[in-house]
Amino acid sequence: MSSKKRVVILGSTGSIGESALKVARDIPERMEVVGLAAGRSAQSLLSQAKEFKPRAVALYETAELDSIRGQFPSGTRCSGGAEGLIELATMPEADLVLISIVGTAGLAPALAAIKAGKAIAVASKEILVMAGEEVTLEAAKHNVPILPVDSEHNAIFQCLVGEPSRHIRRLILTASGGPFRKTPAAELSRVTPAQALKHPTWNMGRKITIDSATLFNKGLEMIEARWLFGVPMSQVDVVVHPQSIVHSLVEFVDGSQLAQLSHSDMCFPIQYAVTYPDRLPNRLRPLNLAEMGSLHFEAPDPEKFPALRLAREAGTTGGTLPAVLNAANEIAVPAFLDEKIPFPSIWLTVEAVMKKHRSVEHPTLGDILKADAWAREVAREEVASHARS
Ligand code: NDP
Repeated sequence: MSSKKRVVILGSTGSIGESALKVARDIPERMEVVGLAAGRSAQSLLSQAKEFKPRAVALYETAELDSIRGQFPSGTRCSGGAEGLIELATMPEADLVLISIVGTAGLAPALAAIKAGKAIAVASKEILVMAGEEVTLEAAKHNVPILPVDSEHNAIFQCLVGEPSRHIRRLILTASGGPFRKTPAAELSRVTPAQALKHPTWNMGRKITIDSATLFNKGLEMIEARWLFGVPMSQVDVVVHPQSIVHSLVEFVDGSQLAQLSHSDMCFPIQYAVTYPDRLPNRLRPLNLAEMGSLHFEAPDPEKFPALRLAREAGTTGGTLPAVLNAANEIAVPAFLDEKIPFPSIWLTVEAVMKKHRSVEHPTLGDILKADAWAREVAREEVASHARS
C-alpha cells in the first residue's frame, strides 16, 4: 500500500503536467517520475528532465527534439513523434501513466498503456468522450484501473469508495458557470477572447478555459462521467457552483448526497490518483469553511449555454456523435481565439456539424477516427461560413 508509484506524465509541460510535478516534489517518497512527454516545448521538457532525471522522455515534434537531443541527463532515453508517446506509455519501468495531453493525441498512448497493463490516470477528457466504450472495455479486459484526474470525476470517485453502482441515483457535476455566468445572452456575441480566458476560479490551459466559458467543458465531463462510472446520461446532472469548492456530488438511492470539497487546486485530485486507495499528508492548503462563510448553488441556464443540451444529446445517442461534438468544438475554439468567429459561433458550429452527422453505433477505433476527421473538415467549412456572415 505504501509503495512508491513510478509515474509517466504525458503532457508534462502543460497546466496539469506542471501540477503533477508539484505533487511529485511534495511526496517524493510515494511518487517517482520515470517518464516525461510533451508536444513542442523543448526547453521546458529539458529543464524538467534535468530536475527529475526520468528514465525516458519524448517530444512529439521531432524537429524540436533534435535541437536538445544531446543535453538530457545521462541515462535518459529520448524519442520523438507519435511512436515516442507510445514508447513512454508502455515503458516497463512504469506503474501509472498520467494522460494530460490536450486534445485527441492522448488516445492512442492511453490505449497502448492499458494494453501493456498500466494503470492510467486520465485528465484528458477527450479520450473518454471520443472512445469511452473502447477505453473502458479494454481497461476491464486488461484489469487495469482508470483513475479520474478531472476534479469533478475525482470527487465522484472519492464519494463512491465502497459503494456499488446500484446505490447511485444521480451524479451531480458542479460547474463554476465560467466568466459569463451573469452576462446577458444578448451580449455574448460581443465578448472577446481575453474576457473568455479570465476564468473566475481555476488557472488552466487555454482550450479548457474557453470550454469552461461556453460550458462545453461541463458537457464533455457529463459524457466522461457516463463512461467512467457506467451510468446512463439521464443519471448525470449539473449544478452551477461559482466558488468551485464542492467539486461534485453523488446522490444515493436513499436520498443522501455525498460531496468532496477542497480549494480549487489540481494537486488534490492528482495526488489522490497517485496514492489511491491510500491518502497522504501534504503541503496543500486545507479548507476552512468558517472562513468561506457560504457556498452558492444555482441551476444552469440551458438557453444561454446550449453546450449542455448538445452534450446530453451526443452522450445519449452515443456511437460516433460524442467524437463529432468534441472535434467540431476543437476547431471552433481556436477560430474564436484567433478572432475569426464570435463566441456564440462556437456552439452554433458544433450544433451544425452534429446535425449533419450519421452516428455509427458501437464504433471501432477506426470509425471514431474517421468521424473525428470528418467533423473537423465540416467544422472548418462552418467556421468559414460564420466568419463571412
Ligand atoms: P495545456 O494546454 O496547459 O497543456 C497541454 C499539454 O499537452 C502540454 O504539455 C503540451 O505540450 C501537450 N501536448 C499537446 N499536443 C501534444 C502532442 N501531440 N503530443 C504530446 N504532448 C502534447 O492543457 P491542460 O494541462 O490545461 O489540459 C490537459 C488536459 O487535461 C486537457 O484534456 C484538459 O481538458 C484536461 N484537464 C485540465 C485541467 C486543468 O486544470 N488544466 C482540469 C481538468 C482536466 P507542449 O507544451 O510541448 O505543446
